[in-house]
Amino acid sequence: MTETPPTYDAQVVVIGAGPAGSATALRLAQNGIEDVVLVDAHDFPRDKTCGSALSPRGIKAVKELGVWEDIERLAYPISGIRLVTPGKREVFLDAPGGKTQAVVCLRRDMDYQIFKAAKAAGVTFLPEFRAKEPIVEDGRWCGIRAADGRTVRARYCVVANGAHSKWGADLGPKREIRAIMGWWKNVPFRPKAIEMIFDKMVEPYYGWLFPETEERVNIGITYEDRDGKKNARKLFQAFLDAYYADRLADAEQVGAWKGHPIVYTYRIGHLHSPGRVVVGEAGRMTHPATGEGISFGMRSGIWAADALRDVIRRKVPEAAAMQIYTARCAAAFSPSFWAGGAFRKLLRSGVLDRAVDLAQTQVVQEMMRRFLTHL
Ligand SMILES: Cc1cc2nc3c(=O)[nH]c(=O)nc-3n(C[C@H](O)[C@H](O)[C@H](O)COP(=O)(O)OP(=O)(O)OC[C@H]3O[C@@H](n4cnc5c(N)ncnc54)[C@H](O)[C@@H]3O)c2cc1C
Repeated sequence: MTETPPTYDAQVVVIGAGPAGSATALRLAQNGIEDVVLVDAHDFPRDKTCGSALSPRGIKAVKELGVWEDIERLAYPISGIRLVTPGKREVFLDAPGGKTQAVVCLRRDMDYQIFKAAKAAGVTFLPEFRAKEPIVEDGRWCGIRAADGRTVRARYCVVANGAHSKWGADLGPKREIRAIMGWWKNVPFRPKAIEMIFDKMVEPYYGWLFPETEERVNIGITYEDRDGKKNARKLFQAFLDAYYADRLADAEQVGAWKGHPIVYTYRIGHLHSPGRVVVGEAGRMTHPATGEGISFGMRSGIWAADALRDVIRRKVPEAAAMQIYTARCAAAFSPSFWAGGAFRKLLRSGVLDRAVDLAQTQVVQEMMRRFLTHL
């Protein structure tokens, strides 16, 4: 006799335990909401293809969630940047006093800290739960079913399953940045500095080197490929040959190269429907110029959790709370997303080359630092 797969009941089910989903679950628990079930296709800790850079916005979010100390302990501090322009000009910008501006923390470690805090706060986790289809009754999301038949029924469902999600509320065509990256040991690099290389072969995007520890870096490229004709591995090899051949000569590669899309938007429009709220990259909330997504994932998760708290406590009707959530994300993220779009256009006009030509002066260096911080 075959056993019937179990059904779980929850107040809120969160689908996906990346930064967006785990932040949502953690904040719900911190808000005093009980019966929160978090599901993921994997068990944790798990890997995620990512540059793993946590921006000042991201640090602010993890501080609010109370997990900064845990992440800081495992992270590599960043206080400077090496910029290379499409015209091959180069500049180093350092934070005043060498102050840490950002960190790089391997996603296996960073995500696990947020996830662990959510579990410690009382969230129930179901691993290896590959969500297959939502349970929708009379147009309302009422839960989620896994490929193995397990089911979680819930009053509210949070969609947090990242770039490949099919359950975003925005039905318009997806915009994608392509990315491919690898990891190496023994690559010489300037301590505490990331590198961003805006070469024409990946225009309007960039290649990067991010140090993860004293010994290990990740290197990658983001690029556009609207008609799917580019060969990612060839493009990445050409980039490595052009910029890192010398430094990789004695390096040891760790693992295989990995590719992954980044889904972005300029306009945040649709993040909810009855019983469903979408957070993080499932809601296309990544930066159109840099591909940054960790901070937007956590921030949207925090705000979605606060909106759900108000609904569950009957302070605000569901539709109004969800509109407030969407408006908060749009107001906070859109200026930066639009600036990202403008930056992409400016790149093609040669403005970065001219800025770096002028960057020998303190004033222009300060302007560039400020611009990069606000991008
Ligand atoms: C190459 C690359 C480099 C990047 N570098 C950076 C960077 O340096 N800094 C930065 O801020 N951002 C970076 N990003 C973007 C960043 O990785 C994402 O935007 C961010 O991870 C989004 O968080 P999320 O929680 O929304 O989704 P994810 O982190 O993708 O988490 C989604 C979770 O959902 C789970 N899941 C997926 N499908 C299912 C399913 N059917 N059922 C159950 N669970 C499921 C997954 O296992 C995963 O744990 C990069 C992206 C790429 C591809």
